[in-house]
Amino acid sequence: MTEPLQTTSSTMPTAGPAPFVEKTPLERYLPPAEPSLVGLSRAQLAEALATVGVPPAQRKMRVQQIWHWLYVRGARDFDAMSSVSKELRATLAARFTLARPEVVAEQTSTDGTRKWLLRLPGEHAGERPHEIECVYIPETDRGTLCLSSQVGCTLTCSFCHTGTQRLVRNLTPGEIVGQIMVARDRLGDWLRAARGRGNAREPLYNFEAVRDALLVAADGEGIAISKRRITLSTSGVVPNIARAGAEIGCMLAVSLHAVRDERRNELVPLNRKYPIEQLLDACRNYPGLSNARRITFEYVMLKDVNDSLADAKALVKLLAGIPAKINLIPFNPWPGTRYECSDWERIEKFSEIIFNAGYASPVRTPRGRDILAACGQLKSASEKLSARERLALRAMAMTD
Ligand code: SAH
Ligand code: SF4
Repeated sequence: MTEPLQTTSSTMPTAGPAPFVEKTPLERYLPPAEPSLVGLSRAQLAEALATVGVPPAQRKMRVQQIWHWLYVRGARDFDAMSSVSKELRATLAARFTLARPEVVAEQTSTDGTRKWLLRLPGEHAGERPHEIECVYIPETDRGTLCLSSQVGCTLTCSFCHTGTQRLVRNLTPGEIVGQIMVARDRLGDWLRAARGRGNAREPLYNFEAVRDALLVAADGEGIAISKRRITLSTSGVVPNIARAGAEIGCMLAVSLHAVRDERRNELVPLNRKYPIEQLLDACRNYPGLSNARRITFEYVMLKDVNDSLADAKALVKLLAGIPAKINLIPFNPWPGTRYECSDWERIEKFSEIIFNAGYASPVRTPRGRDILAACGQLKSASEKLSARERLALRAMAMTD
């Protein structure tokens, strides 16, 4: 059964083109009868072992073994855990699973980007399950994995396709860690070093689950993705930026996209709640920043909206004093959007101003556009694209 979308308005004024609207989750997560052990912390894993009668003195050692099988070897069933006694394997198999999200489809882009469509259970048995996407972008040395933290997004950025969709629910830590497991399963990447990027939807609106999942991913005796290689991208949930610094210790990417509040209110309505000055203060106070550990500022290039050369100069001024990288993202169009991507020439000029101010300002090459895997395109219904839009996307994918 679907209920009408519930929304709560913020305390900020709702007049103007883009009021700040926070979507309320429509569903809760209900654990299945046989829960998966994927994504549990060590302490939770020890509790799970206690429920099947593992004596206290053995729990730490068993947790260590299972952790290794799960996160270093990628075991998909208890039988593979040859260092665990047969009886315990059978007991565990009767009560738990090692399930990851189910892979419904896999697409590979002409540039090697891979996108997986994953299925998650809905709240009610028999109801249509939810689908999320997870994207792997290969790079010369390793690769970047973009994870989802929610079905839909809490927020309503006007240039983002995800923002136009309703929020269905937050993911659990197991579902977030499960995406890394799926990617490693599909890439045959167990027992090899890799790097990850905690990203997509609005992770800081599902803070606890994202934190717990990233702590599992960063555990040195398991998946072992270094915290310096985990980047959390946020549109600016100010109070949780400090929490991310203190409780996760990962790198931060901030979706800035505009240099003045008036424009940012329009693009990122959350700005009405946490304006630019507050956001940059939170960035300045982010722990552990240095030249080697900078905050990435994301800036989507929207034609005639935020791409003037005066904007570029203002951007440089605004970020003075913050160890920063600036990522210019060419806007990825989606059906029905009112925005266009800036002209290439303009992007180059904009980038030059930033470069001359001393920033490396890579224009983030859109990857996987032909399979709608680029920023803001996740979970876009590709079948809804008109022939013209499809052609435009393909042309952009080939010229970048
Ligand atoms: N919710 C988080 C992370 C997911 S979006 C955030 O907003 O930061 C990842 C990045 O893609 C963000 O910088 C977001 O602003 C940007 N983005 C969203 N839609 C886009 C689009 N259509 N084209 C280009 N970038 C987009
Ligand atoms: Fe949500 Fe990020 Fe899209 Fe904004 S840009 S609607 S915060 S996913």
